[in-house]
Amino acid sequence: MSDHAPRTVERQCDVAVVGASAAGLAAALQLGRQRRAVIVVDAGEPRNAPATHLHGYLGHEGRPPSELITAGREEVRSYGGEVLPGRVSRVTRADDGRFRLELVGGNTIVARRVLAATGLVDELPDIDGLAERWGRDVIHCPFCHGFEVRDQRIVQVVTHSMGLHATGLFRQLTARLTVILDDHIEVPHGEIDALQAAGVEIVHGRVRRIVTDDGKLSAVELDDDRRVDADAVAVAPRFTARAEPFASLGIRTAPHATGLGDFVETDATGATAVPGLYAAGNVTDPSQQVSQAAADGSRIGAMISFSLADDDIRLAARSSANEADWDHRYGGDQVWSGNPNGTLVNEISGLTPGRALDVGAGEGGDALWLAEHGWRVTANDISRRALARVAAEAERRGACVECHHADANALDAFEAGAFDLVSAQYASIPRTPDNRAVRNLLNAVAPGGTLLVVSHDLEPMRAPVDTLAHSRPFDPDAYVRVEDVAAALADSPTWHIEVHEKRPRPAGAASASHHVDDVVLRARRLTG
Ligand SMILES: Cc1cc2nc3c(=O)[nH]c(=O)nc-3n(C[C@H](O)[C@H](O)[C@H](O)COP(=O)(O)OP(=O)(O)OC[C@H]3O[C@@H](n4cnc5c(N)ncnc54)[C@H](O)[C@@H]3O)c2cc1C
Repeated sequence: MSDHAPRTVERQCDVAVVGASAAGLAAALQLGRQRRAVIVVDAGEPRNAPATHLHGYLGHEGRPPSELITAGREEVRSYGGEVLPGRVSRVTRADDGRFRLELVGGNTIVARRVLAATGLVDELPDIDGLAERWGRDVIHCPFCHGFEVRDQRIVQVVTHSMGLHATGLFRQLTARLTVILDDHIEVPHGEIDALQAAGVEIVHGRVRRIVTDDGKLSAVELDDDRRVDADAVAVAPRFTARAEPFASLGIRTAPHATGLGDFVETDATGATAVPGLYAAGNVTDPSQQVSQAAADGSRIGAMISFSLADDDIRLAARSSANEADWDHRYGGDQVWSGNPNGTLVNEISGLTPGRALDVGAGEGGDALWLAEHGWRVTANDISRRALARVAAEAERRGACVECHHADANALDAFEAGAFDLVSAQYASIPRTPDNRAVRNLLNAVAPGGTLLVVSHDLEPMRAPVDTLAHSRPFDPDAYVRVEDVAAALADSPTWHIEVHEKRPRPAGAASASHHVDDVVLRARRLTG
């Protein structure tokens, strides 16, 4: 197989998850462990991004929020789940009942189920200088960041009637609490007296500006020029559920009981009013902190697994979305150039032809070249359509290639110890934590035989993406990487690594301009 050439790509999967934060990643992990093909798309705007530390999540206390996300992504990828930087602009229902997700930049995903884990947008009060300090010394949640401002001069700016909801909690955190009450707010009789009696200072007025001194928050300024000294400011934002991409499916958000925003209604299984569309996390409940959003995602991920399993039982099917994904790609025009990969040609030139296994053979450019150079070749692919193309081309050229349909991750996918050469050129094999596909590749090599694994240099493919304009179609870190194979061989007494290096991609490849460098691993299985 050669490189990914098309400009825009349609992917197929079991479940598309929109949003790769606590809720989305937790769901994707459940689904990946249920052997479901999951593609997660994320625009990179988690709600707590402005905060430097995450609090109140058992086992993760005080970590930067990004660490949790990075660890979660790696866990999802370790089961072959893809996490794509990008943005879903619209979700529609395809003719066959599946969903079609349009990503900015033109790529699309077709999925049996969709999980909305898109979170919400906090709408801050219109106060000059407030947004700049949001998540630092302007806070909203006593549970998230209250302890960090304990004993400080906390000024709580109350701009709507729900604003006093957290006042008792802030009073517990400091003896120096001032509440600034916007004049239009109606407060239940006796509440102000009770707060004052408990030592809370009440100021009536409207805050105009956050005042800073030497880069540090120092006061709030009111419309009538009065100032109230402050070390930290507490506000209660309004919120909007991020549900626009699902609007064309007929999803309407419901007003939240607080009157401060909206949310997506779901039943106990996380199902929305649209069959097959689920939702989890802050988009369904603004009060969820990170641990609750993760728990919600995890639970809804399990519910989606049940729903898919029920469908499959009813259809008596054991479908592979990965196979469908590749069959779809081999259902149109020729995908690859038909030329052999230059690195394969260079690396095997000194070998005596014998039996060769080409893993992830695609349309057979490598397999056919090997066959025409004296090798007895088995071309393997997960896609039957790809193998049909290999067989047709072999017949046309009078070459002899045996086709072997198998998922490289299947139990005992390949004949053990049978091949003098096992070649995997840019093979997109989903990872598993136990490296099953890697073991399958290694086991297939005969004593004295050669393993040749080539992939793109992944670094350029990991570069940040402007998700307002682009979305990536593939996640290279969800697939077996050359490094995974090298790690499995390292320190093994039965293997000798002959080549492991990054080098420019040889000329002639269909898309050499996109991926300039290859990573090449050639290893020999020792005899005896
Ligand atoms: C300033 C601040 C600090 C906080 N601190 C804490 C804390 O210390 N502890 C705590 O427990 N909680 C904290 N929270 C609450 C916490 O942020 C939420 O509980 C949590 O982020 C909810 O997770 P989620 O997965 O539901 O949504 P989010 O974390 O908001 O993630 C939603 C994801 O969906 C993506 N997305 C949205 N639309 C699209 C689209 N169309 N296409 C692709 N991707 C999309 C977004 O980019 C985002 O990454 C804090 C909140 C704020 C505002």
